[in-house]
Amino acid sequence: MLLPLVMFACSPDPSPALLLAVDRDEDGEYRVAPRPIPELTDAQHMEGALGDGYRGGRIAIDLFSADLAIRYDEGGRMDLDYDVVDGVAIPMDEDGLVLWTYYHTLSQVRADLNGLGVDTEPIWPIAFAYQPAFVGMDFTSGENAAYLGNGVHLFILLPDALPAVLPLAANPGVIRHEFGHALFNVLTAGDAYALAPYDQLEDPNVTNGVRALNEGFADMIATLTLDDNDFFDLSLPSVTTRDVAADAVADVSMYPANAESYDPYALGTVYASFAWDLRALTSPEEAVVLVVAAVEAWSAEEAWADTDRWAELLLELAVAEDDTLTAPLCAAFAARLPERQTPETCA
Ligand SMILES: [Zn+2]
Repeated sequence: MLLPLVMFACSPDPSPALLLAVDRDEDGEYRVAPRPIPELTDAQHMEGALGDGYRGGRIAIDLFSADLAIRYDEGGRMDLDYDVVDGVAIPMDEDGLVLWTYYHTLSQVRADLNGLGVDTEPIWPIAFAYQPAFVGMDFTSGENAAYLGNGVHLFILLPDALPAVLPLAANPGVIRHEFGHALFNVLTAGDAYALAPYDQLEDPNVTNGVRALNEGFADMIATLTLDDNDFFDLSLPSVTTRDVAADAVADVSMYPANAESYDPYALGTVYASFAWDLRALTSPEEAVVLVVAAVEAWSAEEAWADTDRWAELLLELAVAEDDTLTAPLCAAFAARLPERQTPETCA
């Protein structure tokens, strides 16, 4: 006798209104809760208006390209396992929580910045690679989320190399930081897929100096849009040294020409701390608008070799908006960048 085998394939709603994700709530606490992600039209396959996700795939140096560019060979379609209970999508494993948090965070930072008049639209859509393989490249550092610019325009999400309280790739501050790199790329290169003009100079000191400002800017986007100067603490309570707003002060050893092996975070933290000084005098919203405007002004001057010039431009733009900021902001500038000549605005 042949028994008919009946299988029920239950596919949950592909675009539930709410999905579990981590975010910082009104009271300042981070928690997992049902969140809207309106741009995510297919939650199972991670596809939507902000970009589609790929499982695995391969990131490699493109040997056929004249400038040895990095390229991404797309992996398979994402396929998440989840149930929908009372209209809320509940992931069956950590992947769903990490990826929905990632997408929700992008959705939130897009709404936050567009609402303040900072145009993020040139960034979308941007694909992401979940746990890709790396060929011919060393990508084994503590990185768990990254933005690849220079023609690739891709986010990468990796499993944690370090034991973490909250996976780094599910830390809203880390995702906002990586988003900050994508925004910096668009603001300075003019197009999401363009090669960065400062890297074209092929001067390692210029490239490294811009990396410092780029890291600082990414931290500014994370700290100011979350209004949290210590978002790393969620994932790495005892490891973090990037304490924005503490006592970061620039010294000559932080500039690339004077460094043996370059750490962009030291100087980047000084810049992000100066932006936090501005936030303390104004508001997180005003400060984030001004730091973006200062990157645009610095980029228009093509002052690539002089990243302190960005801080001067931030000062000038802030004082032009509100001249009562002159004394306190000039004092903050002198404290953060003691070696720099007093800016004209402060003289
Ligand atoms: Zn970074």
